[in-house]
Amino acid sequence: MTSLVADSKLLDKGTQSTNLHNSITNTSKMLILKPCKHIFWDLDHTLWDFEKNAALTLQELFVKYNLQTILKVSSEEFCKVFARSNQELWQLYNSSKINKHELRKMRFPRLFKRLGASESLVPANMEDDYQNTCRQQPHLMPHAREVLETLQDRKYTMHIISNGFQDAQAEKLRYANIEQFFDVLVTSESCSYRKPQRGIFLHTFQKCRTHAQEGIMIGDNLSTDIAGALAVQMRNVWYNPHAEKNTTDIKPTHQIGCLLELLSIL
Ligand SMILES: [Mg+2]
Repeated sequence: MTSLVADSKLLDKGTQSTNLHNSITNTSKMLILKPCKHIFWDLDHTLWDFEKNAALTLQELFVKYNLQTILKVSSEEFCKVFARSNQELWQLYNSSKINKHELRKMRFPRLFKRLGASESLVPANMEDDYQNTCRQQPHLMPHAREVLETLQDRKYTMHIISNGFQDAQAEKLRYANIEQFFDVLVTSESCSYRKPQRGIFLHTFQKCRTHAQEGIMIGDNLSTDIAGALAVQMRNVWYNPHAEKNTTDIKPTHQIGCLLELLSIL
């Protein structure tokens, strides 16, 4: 098993790695590690702008299905309530309380109910339409592409670890034209584990022929991305663009508000 003790001879990536190494050594005694070679990215809300892509999709569906007449709300209200309701469903999925099928089946009936309309009014093709349209939206989080390009130039090997579904995540990478940056895409569906479970990380390390000590996880979700990385003793970066207060006892190695900040960490 690889030692957790830093090996200075392995610091072969120049200043960037030295900065990361020093920073990690200073901030977390637990994570005294080898230089980072592999970057593990979360996808939704970290690289792929879920909020924007979902809002554009919902606005399209709102018009297509004449939802103003059915629901008697504005498209802004529709999107706002969707965001909350959908996030709650994903929390249930992340904690293994519902499966993929249930999440997709519940999504719009739950939303309609929350907006005071009968579940029976959900158009038959709404969920399929939502999935097919949303995953083809191309918008990324600010600076995502330039950060990926720079990190690729710096010779990091990059991968995705996502709790999303395999078909959807693969298509998002393709339509956003970022699939060329990644070696491996692991989803909760492709390996039967979900972040923060250790299994999804260990499965990914095996696939990438690496281990936690050579990697770093970057993600927006404390309870999945960061808690999971900490569970396998992997350094990590909490991407927190809305400057949310951390009210948990989960302590990320790094915290950033903008993806560009990664370039001084890595
Ligand atoms: Mg995320």
